[in-house]
Amino acid sequence: MKQSAPFLGLTQVLERVRGTTSKNEKVGILAEYLAKLQPSDAEVAARVASGRSSERGSKDEAQVGYSTLLDVLREATGATEAEVSRTYLRHGDLGEVAEELLAEKKEQTLFDEQLTLAALGDAFAKLRSTKGQGSTSAKKGVVKSLLLSASPLEGKYIVKVLTGEMRTGLVSGLLEEAIASAYGLSKPEAARAHMVLGDIGVFANRAARGDVSGVRIQPFRPVNFMLAEPFATAAEIAEHFGRTVYAEYKYDGIRAQVHKSGRKVRIYSRRLEEITSSFPEVVASLQGARGDFVLDGEAVPFEGGRPLPFQLLQRRLRRMEDFEAAAKKAPITYFAFDILFRDGKETVDLSLAERRKHLAKVVAGTTARMAETVDVSTQGEIQAAFRRSRDLGYEGLVVKDPDSLYGMGKRGSGWAKLKEELDTLDVVIVAAEYGHGKRAGVISDYTFAVRDGDQLKTVGKAYSGLTDKEIDEMTEKLKEITVRDFGYRREVKPEIVLEVAFDSIQRSGRHDGGYALRFPRIKRIRTDKGVSDIDTIEKVEKMFSGQKLKVDER
Ligand code: AMP
Repeated sequence: MKQSAPFLGLTQVLERVRGTTSKNEKVGILAEYLAKLQPSDAEVAARVASGRSSERGSKDEAQVGYSTLLDVLREATGATEAEVSRTYLRHGDLGEVAEELLAEKKEQTLFDEQLTLAALGDAFAKLRSTKGQGSTSAKKGVVKSLLLSASPLEGKYIVKVLTGEMRTGLVSGLLEEAIASAYGLSKPEAARAHMVLGDIGVFANRAARGDVSGVRIQPFRPVNFMLAEPFATAAEIAEHFGRTVYAEYKYDGIRAQVHKSGRKVRIYSRRLEEITSSFPEVVASLQGARGDFVLDGEAVPFEGGRPLPFQLLQRRLRRMEDFEAAAKKAPITYFAFDILFRDGKETVDLSLAERRKHLAKVVAGTTARMAETVDVSTQGEIQAAFRRSRDLGYEGLVVKDPDSLYGMGKRGSGWAKLKEELDTLDVVIVAAEYGHGKRAGVISDYTFAVRDGDQLKTVGKAYSGLTDKEIDEMTEKLKEITVRDFGYRREVKPEIVLEVAFDSIQRSGRHDGGYALRFPRIKRIRTDKGVSDIDTIEKVEKMFSGQKLKVDER
């Protein structure tokens, strides 16, 4: 086998990719580089370029926490805590901090051994397999020896991958194109192989071997999920399809791909991570089903014929309690809405109507259920189905074309989703923080409050919705009205009013108002309003009790 290529070469290529905004150039630079690599190197390079250190779908991640990385950076470079945090504030990116600190220190070190892609891949594998007691210090050792043998540029990319913050503008589609161009695949060929293999590295490896034509869906290789396109109104959905289609409840749970072969069942999340151990009931419910299959559906907290609040799932996912307790508090039902593979054959190229027939056969006799479907065609029928769904405690509708194929990884026009936006609230900013990454050096995270008599009570924190220019102006303004400066956080005089939209309201101990807005986004800066015009905690309470689902976040 050829010698593995140096990692330095990849980092230089990634710098060039970052340096251009032209998508074609990004693709061209990367394709030229990949074409020269042997398959195993292409695998590591493509994965790193996508910002990952481990294969998608693998149960173990090589990622290392911020605080561990900060420790290692100090140890490897001799920088003090204050130096590290000063450098961090300047860049807002730990990779760039690593580069700067390594550059300062590297003058006195000589390193003769070059880090290869194979060695990097091995180090990531070691991080993945290091678990249990003492794993933090073992991981530190691995990262430290990597950083000690790395040039500043290599150090930067090692840290970027380990924090999952690549920011090269290389979205997955561009990487896929680069691989296609490097190895002479057509775009559809590449797209399909990538979807089915799930992981960009595995895909690059197969492409470099000239072996993508035989790629097929198979159990225990998660594939990317089909996504729905958002629509604002029932009328738009009726017009979009223009015929009789299926309306399904939109279940508020966790998207889950269930794979079964023999008696073995594994479950994968939307990010293609294995989450089998979080859902023992789903395993139990499908273990006895006939045949082998890959299903798509939603794991929903569900009891007495009704959905329970989604938040009840979160503790379980964060592994904060044992499953017996979790299962009692929020028993899960798996609502299957699609099938991608059955008994040795892919079903993704069948129509949804055909796929549902297969699905019904697989689910029959198990405690898993099929998503409920009603036929709708007019705006009125869609609206009525939507109302019914909301009344029963579901989130809305996903409307599907019975003739559509399963578009892996696509936000295709075959599925349309309809959700209800709640009202907006007018709130005032009471505290703010500096952002990260692209937002380093600007104050972009805003804690906001509503009125409670003559006091202010916080109910959330918003990060999104403003343009860069607005954030710059906001930063200047917030500096001017700072009451107390804690470094990266400031308390400010409550005078900037925001109109925020959000998905729902939950009870929360995190804010002194006792509630938190879920997924708040800034709709507008209300320069026309002052603090006396903002909404009250009574209004928040009223909206909360008007919600179909009441959520307690304990
Ligand atoms: P959203 O998370 O709002 O973008 O909506 C898309 C998500 O709705 C999907 O990723 C699924 O997790 C979820 N979902 C719930 N019910 C269905 C359904 N019947 N069909 C498809 N997706 C559904």
